Amino acid sequence: MVDFEIDETQEMMVATAGEFGEGVVQAAEVELDRIADPEEVFSSDLFRDVMRKAYGIGLHKMALSQEHGGLGLDPITTGMVWEELSRYGTGFAATLMPISIVPQVVAFVASQNKGLMEKYVLPFCEDTEARHVSAWGSSEPDVGSDGKNYADLSVHHRTAAEGKGGVYTINGTKSDFVTNGGIASMYLVFACIDPSLGIKGSGTFVVPADAPGLSTGRALDKIGLRVQNQAAVYFEGVEVPEDHMIFPPGENYPFLHNAIVTVGNLGVGYLAVGLMRAAYEEALAYSKQRVQWGKPIFEHQLIAEKLLNIFIAIESSRAFLQKGSWLCKTGFPGDLKTSLAAKIYATDQAVRHTSEMVQVLGGYGISRDHPLEKHMRDAKLLQIMDGTNETLMMKAGSLL
Ligand SMILES: Cc1cc2nc3c(=O)[nH]c(=O)nc-3n(C[C@H](O)[C@H](O)[C@H](O)COP(=O)(O)OP(=O)(O)OC[C@H]3O[C@@H](n4cnc5c(N)ncnc54)[C@H](O)[C@@H]3O)c2cc1C
Repeated sequence: MVDFEIDETQEMMVATAGEFGEGVVQAAEVELDRIADPEEVFSSDLFRDVMRKAYGIGLHKMALSQEHGGLGLDPITTGMVWEELSRYGTGFAATLMPISIVPQVVAFVASQNKGLMEKYVLPFCEDTEARHVSAWGSSEPDVGSDGKNYADLSVHHRTAAEGKGGVYTINGTKSDFVTNGGIASMYLVFACIDPSLGIKGSGTFVVPADAPGLSTGRALDKIGLRVQNQAAVYFEGVEVPEDHMIFPPGENYPFLHNAIVTVGNLGVGYLAVGLMRAAYEEALAYSKQRVQWGKPIFEHQLIAEKLLNIFIAIESSRAFLQKGSWLCKTGFPGDLKTSLAAKIYATDQAVRHTSEMVQVLGGYGISRDHPLEKHMRDAKLLQIMDGTNETLMMKAGSLL
């Protein structure tokens, strides 16, 4: 029943991602990671050029259906691509992975709304210039992990939406951590309509970035994933037509939020696998060349153990994630508990083992001349992205 053979499409997509990763992304990622001012990264020709090329080969629209102009790839195949891309540049992979969030959600819950499809989905799929970028804003300065706290009715999004005369007016602030927050052209925004329902009192809105009153903060200066933009999004009297609320508040609120997290968490897990592969391959090659105590350090058993441990982590994480992707493929959006558990496992492994790979290189491992230290920094963010592993653990645990 279990079959590890990959089909022709998978082979082609992984090869495409690998060539793009090695030929275009890797060097750009290292160069951009070293720029001190993050604003300079995202306004650079280099960042835009890589993004344009990624759109040119369709990496932004892999999961969207062919009917809408997407590539129509299944979740196992897209997972393989995210792993492969992350092998060469986790920052760019972490930028591109959530970039189709608005079009995908619109196509999922509002496909009958021709206006929204024509405005947010079709042009996105036709884009080869990386002009259409999306972001989702749930977290806020005072609503972090609380965004998953449905039990306490005093907790609600402070970003609020008020409906009147066929228009919703949005006011509030989304946190500094919104992925692509400073570069997006469209946002999926959770805004409170009925505070008495707690977090479930939020509606889900599509908001174009050029809506009057919408502005963004400076790109976050952070320890890792420095090539992934994160920035606050501010709403001051931002008006959207009422059909831009694509999911209403109420008891069903967790359905959409959980669907996004079920798919998104698998993506984050695959980024961790690609990153571990990069660290493993680099440390393995080094260990076979570096001679100490009269032989390559690979021949010292304590070093070989570290390499075997990361090999085990890569293989087991990938298998676990692919089980989650298979559940997503066979019954969309999949099984929340499995996705969360696989993400927690893969990202925790990545933090542990990238540190161990730095150790394999000894003093050279901490040098910025070697890419290993970057993998360690990037890995840390994955334990927080799409929910901290602690809160995901609480949620997954409650579903046992
Ligand atoms: C790389 C990255 C990308 C992100 N992208 C987005 C995005 O696109 N959109 C978006 O809206 N947000 C995004 N976020 C924000 C992310 O969702 C939040 O950082 C996360 O939900 C945690 O919120 P917080 O940072 O405010 O931490 P807090 O909630 O303040 O948590 C602080 C610490 O307390 C722990 N903690 C909190 N509650 C509990 C509890 N009940 N039991 C045990 N421990 C607890 C947490 O695990 C954490 O260790 C991103 C974050 C990162 C790092």
